[in-house]
Amino acid sequence: AQLYGVNDWGADYFSVNEAGQAVVNVPFGEQKASVAILDIIQAMSERGLEMPAMLRIENLLDDRIAKLNNAFAEAITAYDYQNVYRGVFPIKVNQQCHVVEEIADYGRRFSHGLEAGSKAELIIALAKLQDNDSLIVCNGYKDSEFIELGLYAREMGIPCFFILETPAELPIIIKASQRLGIKPLLGVRIRSSVKVDGHWNADSGDRSIFGLSTTALFDVVTQLKAADMIDCLQLLHCHIGSQIPNIRNIRNGVQEACQFYSGLQAEGAPMGYLDLGGGLAVDYEGTRNISSNSMNYGLDEYCAAIVETISEALTPKGIAHPVIVTESGRATVAYSSMLLFNILDVRNHDPAPLPDALPEDSHELLQNLWLVNDAINSQNYQECFHDAEYYRDQIRQLFLHGQIGLSERACADNLALAVFEKVAKEVAQQNRPAPELLDIHEQLADVYYGNFSLFQSLPDAWAIDQVFPVMPVHRLEERPTRHAVIADITCDCDGQINRFASVDGIKKTIRLHEKQEQEDYYLGVFLVGAYQETLGDLHNLFGDTNVVSVHISEDGSLNFAREFHGDSISDVLSYVEYDPKIMQEEFRKRAEAAVKQGKITAVKRKTILKAFKDSLDGYTYFESETL
Ligand code: PLP
Repeated sequence: AQLYGVNDWGADYFSVNEAGQAVVNVPFGEQKASVAILDIIQAMSERGLEMPAMLRIENLLDDRIAKLNNAFAEAITAYDYQNVYRGVFPIKVNQQCHVVEEIADYGRRFSHGLEAGSKAELIIALAKLQDNDSLIVCNGYKDSEFIELGLYAREMGIPCFFILETPAELPIIIKASQRLGIKPLLGVRIRSSVKVDGHWNADSGDRSIFGLSTTALFDVVTQLKAADMIDCLQLLHCHIGSQIPNIRNIRNGVQEACQFYSGLQAEGAPMGYLDLGGGLAVDYEGTRNISSNSMNYGLDEYCAAIVETISEALTPKGIAHPVIVTESGRATVAYSSMLLFNILDVRNHDPAPLPDALPEDSHELLQNLWLVNDAINSQNYQECFHDAEYYRDQIRQLFLHGQIGLSERACADNLALAVFEKVAKEVAQQNRPAPELLDIHEQLADVYYGNFSLFQSLPDAWAIDQVFPVMPVHRLEERPTRHAVIADITCDCDGQINRFASVDGIKKTIRLHEKQEQEDYYLGVFLVGAYQETLGDLHNLFGDTNVVSVHISEDGSLNFAREFHGDSISDVLSYVEYDPKIMQEEFRKRAEAAVKQGKITAVKRKTILKAFKDSLDGYTYFESETL
């Protein structure tokens, strides 16, 4: 287990039991219920929900919301802060209906609201939140339809804020407000000058595409005063980036936001709310490090830093403490989902057994390579590595020019592999191995073919090299002996996971167990609840996976709260404008022609058309044989 760092990134939600199985732990007060993920896979399979699948544990979603709200409440008490925390979940981070519903339902006890970045998301927020204490925060570009809807929400008593991202939005809001006679709740999003570490740092700085410059901010205040609507300006919004790894960045961002906040109050805006956006990170690596996939702080420190910074900035100025709003997305939902898949096949780079001797007429270069393989030892392994590479490449040149045949080329490739394998063993045994050979096991790594699409299920691993924790969900009592990269089943060489977190930094390979014949070997990619599901695409027409939401009871029993079968082939074809019915008819015509040509019988035609129809109805991923 330690090899996979689960105790570092698992946040106590994931661990390994005595039987070597990965378990999910759901806290119930001081107690917890633990369930082996393999048991959940088994229960899914009994229900016809095969791999790959997205498994969501609803309790973890609930626990994250509770932890976030409780941590703010504790910091508020500790610093004698004179106002409350009101979180909002940004819908874009996971728009799935059952996720938003769970957040809305469970979050109600904390008045946890929703953030909407588009008209569609506003509609979700208006329908799914059922109380007037939870905030709705509207970011993004807003047309008059969007604004009218938000104004009607205001009229109904819903605390729905429009956040001005550009000055151009204001005249539309003012016009709609005057036309309907409804006053909006307004916020302004500032363009923070704070520099942020990590990958997602384009949300701040002068070149950020979001937020108002200070000049534009003054323009907004002037326009609001002219329209006699300065009383509507009650919120300052500041989002300096997602996955902020460094707590200092957060403190700096809050400090700057407070200065804008007090500046706006001095300009006559009533204010009352300070929205600090997202940014609370997830430690995907488990290294507590300032890196794109980690963070140097915990939840309690995050809340304390925010509460303390606001208090220190505003109390001396005699400014009343605002309601603190944050829009934590990633930290709310990442833990609750994992992608599960089975390994279909393994390609290794082990050499085939060598013959007892080379044929006598073998090419001289091949004989040299043979001698290298015989001579290798702990003193000369580096030299042997160079020689083997050299002779192998020379032999490849000869093959290229037609001077040796296929069998000699194959023999050379295999001999070189035999040398590299011995070199790798020597390297593993050396105290101070030659630095150039430190990554030789990566060059010899196996390829484990997983039944999933990176593009559909882990788009950020492909697009921005994000690291997610990966671990087998069983056999964890056994030492894994293989070094591997994990390839998906798309026909794309980018479709592989080759960045893995480890205590020594990011590695290109992961240690896995030798796959046994006939054995199902299951891997999990963890912490994938944020951003991955709807950003995914249909590369090679691999569609949505099966999705299962389970609720775990205190006694460890499973409740399959929701289950969704993934896309069928018909579904994905229709997404790209094919009509499966027409395709069936087209194929029927071909089959009929084949009957006419005497290639198949009419009875065979029936079987073939049924196979075509069954394929249309089938899962887009690899389906295990059911014959
Ligand atoms: N709020 C806004 C305005 C955002 O742009 C984002 C994402 O970048 C978030 C909230 C969510 O951020 P996070 O997932 O880091 O909590």
